[in-house]
Amino acid sequence: MGIMNGRRAIDLNSKNRSVRLEDIGAQLEVRRHPGARRLTLRVSRTRRAVIVTLPLQCDLDEAGSFLNRHIDWVRARLDSLPNHVPFEDAAAMPLRGVPHMIAFTGNTRSRVISIDKRNGARPSIIVPGDKTLASNRLTRWLFEEAKRDLSASVEKHAGPLAVKVKRIGVRDQTSRWGSCSTTGALSFSWRLILAPSFVLDYVAAHEVAHLIEMNHGPRFWALVKKICPEFEAAKDWLQVLGPDLHRYGPARGRDH
Ligand SMILES: [Zn+2]
Repeated sequence: MGIMNGRRAIDLNSKNRSVRLEDIGAQLEVRRHPGARRLTLRVSRTRRAVIVTLPLQCDLDEAGSFLNRHIDWVRARLDSLPNHVPFEDAAAMPLRGVPHMIAFTGNTRSRVISIDKRNGARPSIIVPGDKTLASNRLTRWLFEEAKRDLSASVEKHAGPLAVKVKRIGVRDQTSRWGSCSTTGALSFSWRLILAPSFVLDYVAAHEVAHLIEMNHGPRFWALVKKICPEFEAAKDWLQVLGPDLHRYGPARGRDH
């Protein structure tokens, strides 16, 4: 049995447990959890996904009818989220906190992404090459830009604290802006490149400070303040505007 989704039913028994609910514009994830005692349903704000968790003994048919019974609730939750903005020609997106327009030129003679600041108020991110690949190319470029800015910030903050950074990774992580492993590797969300630079700089400082204090106690915050005195403003920015950064991302594939 599938989930009736407007025009068609989605078959939960297919191999792919993560399917797109086309009509309501969300990803569906089915998770089996040994500790779950009953079926639960939630909508992830950051990933715009509908997540059904089911106990091990529960079969997928039950998950399907459970979701069908609650589809109006799911729709209402999704409607309350701001719209996803896929990377496509003429879309608007922020870069280092400044609004930009995306331009997919289709020009196959060039491969270099550049910023065009000529057209007045709103600069453009010029993405050449095959238009069908442009969304992925732009995403890769944003990862590289994020890594470059974050590496510079991390280096700047590591100096005064006399700490060594093993590795800097940039990921598509939705639950945290940055993290620090016990081995000294720092990882960050690529979406920080969308935020104003003082915000990215604070997240870098925060993770560098964790190389000394692996906690959020007073000594940790004193270190953050020492290397990034304006950190409160960046914290506030992330709290209020951070979730909005999750709206932007590569155009998603259809139907799977
Ligand atoms: Zn922390």
